[in-house]
Amino acid sequence: MREITVLNIDRVACDGRGMCAELLPELIDLDEWGYPIVRGAEIPPHLMEHARRAVEVCPVLAFRLFNDPSAASKVNPRPNSRPVRR
Ligand code: SF4
Repeated sequence: MREITVLNIDRVACDGRGMCAELLPELIDLDEWGYPIVRGAEIPPHLMEHARRAVEVCPVLAFRLFNDPSAASKVNPRPNSRPVRR
């Protein structure tokens, strides 16, 4: 069974600096205020390294990766469970 990793952005924490969009332009656009718009939450294997880098550079820890897609869709802005940090 193939492992699926999805991204989730904490929209309350995000400050809209757009670094994630620079690292993952294949999956993320920016709106007119500079906040990310996710085009595809599932991370293709060839983009995993870029996604991990986006997690590392997000200044407010708003960019997160989850191995369980159902967990990512249930996340509140301030989750009690910790996201996957690779
Ligand atoms: S890098 Fe983090 S704070 Fe910046 S736009 Fe992306 S999610 Fe928001």
